[in-house]
Amino acid sequence: MLIRLTYASRTKGVLGPADVKDIIRTSQSNNAKVGVTGALLLVDGVFLQCLEGSVASVNALYHRIALDPRHQQTSILAFSEIDRRLFGGWSMGLVPAIADNLSLLFSYSPALAFDPFAMKASALDALFTELVARARVLSN
Ligand code: FAD
Repeated sequence: MLIRLTYASRTKGVLGPADVKDIIRTSQSNNAKVGVTGALLLVDGVFLQCLEGSVASVNALYHRIALDPRHQQTSILAFSEIDRRLFGGWSMGLVPAIADNLSLLFSYSPALAFDPFAMKASALDALFTELVARARVLSN
């Protein structure tokens, strides 16, 4: 069965573009081996990541990620069975924090600051669908 899991977390310490690049590089290499696809974004110290794949591979990966010392307060926001992947072409795509993307993120946020913890699962799915449709996800 194919599933999609979306979670958010807060950075621990200061993480910069080099750290995110490092995470993306490791993710792309590891995820490709187990058939996991998805996307990651980091805005104002908040990570939002979508993981797609088999129940076993996504669960195992999420539990490993949750233990990573680079972030904290990991919280699953959405979990669903899906028929088709949204991120079929990305073993882990990066959503760059560019102005166009930020305004899209804020348009889905209940508050002024981007706060995925407060978003509905359907809004998170809609946000990622729109990011993909607008080709706002990069492979590196
Ligand atoms: P290595 O990358 O060699 O890491 C070995 C150990 O060192 C791990 O315990 C790791 O957590 C730790 N580590 C590595 N770099 C650092 C660092 N800079 N600071 C502190 N500890 C470090 N991994 C995936 O495979 N797929 C994903 O989609 C994915 N998404 C992630 C999203 C976020 C927000 C974060 C923070 C991490 C993500 N990771 C992901 C990384 C994951 O948590 C593991 O670090 C990684 O999977 C381990 O890869 P590895 O076995 O090749 O070991």
